Amino acid sequence: MAKVEAPVAKNEYYDVIFEDLTHDGAGVAKIDGFPIFVANGLPREKAKIKVIKVKKGYGYGRLIELYEPSPDRVDAPCPVYKQCGGCQLQHLSYEGQLKAKYKHVKEVLARIGKIEDVTVHPVLGMSDPWRYRNKAQVPVGEREGGLIAGFYKERSHDIIDMEACLIQQEMNDTVVQTVKAICEQYNIPAYNEQTHKGVLRHIMARYGATTKEVMVVLITRTEELPHKKKIIEAIIDRIPNVKSIVQNINPKRTNVIMGEDTRVLWGSEYIYDYIGDIRFAISARSFYQVNPEQTKVLYEKALEYAELTGEETVIDAYCGIGTISLFLAKKAKKVYGVEVVPEAIEDAKRNATLNGITNVEFAVGEAEAVLPRWYEQGVKADCIVVDPPRKGCDETLLQTMIAMKPKRIVYVSCNPATLARDLRILEDGGYKTCEVQPVDMFPHTNHVECVSRLVLKM
Ligand code: SAH
Repeated sequence: MAKVEAPVAKNEYYDVIFEDLTHDGAGVAKIDGFPIFVANGLPREKAKIKVIKVKKGYGYGRLIELYEPSPDRVDAPCPVYKQCGGCQLQHLSYEGQLKAKYKHVKEVLARIGKIEDVTVHPVLGMSDPWRYRNKAQVPVGEREGGLIAGFYKERSHDIIDMEACLIQQEMNDTVVQTVKAICEQYNIPAYNEQTHKGVLRHIMARYGATTKEVMVVLITRTEELPHKKKIIEAIIDRIPNVKSIVQNINPKRTNVIMGEDTRVLWGSEYIYDYIGDIRFAISARSFYQVNPEQTKVLYEKALEYAELTGEETVIDAYCGIGTISLFLAKKAKKVYGVEVVPEAIEDAKRNATLNGITNVEFAVGEAEAVLPRWYEQGVKADCIVVDPPRKGCDETLLQTMIAMKPKRIVYVSCNPATLARDLRILEDGGYKTCEVQPVDMFPHTNHVECVSRLVLKM
């Protein structure tokens, strides 16, 4: 085949109209049919761009001048939005974000899953889409002798010193700023990645949005934390709702934030929070959903789609700390949860006890290994709920589900592409996808979560 010349050249300027938005928030312009991805461009906007990279079938550009802004464009309220990279959609109105996420889900289901005959509901968003994250993990560095704390500049390890992150709970900002000031006062040296010297690596804050309880975690390279007692006293004094102060020691040269050794310096090992009326104990290392308000919306939808009457046996695959399992247990006869991380299952069991829920059983293992075993042992499920990580379900698991023939499947997904792929397999195995409900768990970022309801065709 003759080599097709790209119709654009690097470092040249072009006038374009953006036609689309990629799932990660870049505008798409076409020059003689050749797609160019431009960060910060919005559909229907007229702009001057500079092409900065040309690949085989597409290129990248930079927005130089906006001739006609979209009516959906807003000024990003965060002063470090462009450098940070944590959010991708702050320049798009919240309504515009929800519409873009809806369109993405619908398109991906059709393109990858060939699923067109399905109701996709409008995305359930937040009434106030700011200040929702309940966990902050902020790297600490040094500049001119003082401490800085913030997020890494996109694609680098340069720390942006910042006072506020607008998607964090305000309390988490307060904790980070206060602990930074206290550590500076006691001359605690920040960890230096290059030299592998220094002490304080990260400050972590966890906040129970319902209970208002605060956990402070100091992640240090060394076991020794100079002036430990004074630092603890100052934290208690200046952060009134603190219930737990923890030190985590990570002596390794690594990008992994936490180490193996966790010590309670003061107060409790846990803070508590609620999703709906279920209480959760959260330790420094526990996995816990970062947007509890929307998590409740998501789980209520999963519960509705499970259509439980109290007589059912339900399997919750990829159950984490048992959040969905415990939510379902109130309305089911029996729930079996399975999860690969042993510590998460310990948390799940503790949370069941904490809530007096006795009709759940948790197993450690890969869902694709445990479900076939349950199937062989004759476990019969009326409903199977899956909530896999981004890569989706293992094919063995999907085939086992098809063989087990539950009347209903509820698929909770954080990645529409793998959801579409897996729904196709389930459809080919005899299921019908009836409806898909996207939920906005992470406003201003490019992520979207979906709950899907499937029924076994007669
Ligand atoms: N349902 C939970 C967790 C969902 S996140 C909640 O809503 O909080 C996905 C979970 O799947 C993670 O806890 C991860 O540890 C787990 N996981 C990943 N691969 C797995 C596998 N092959 N089998 C079982 N669990 C797995």
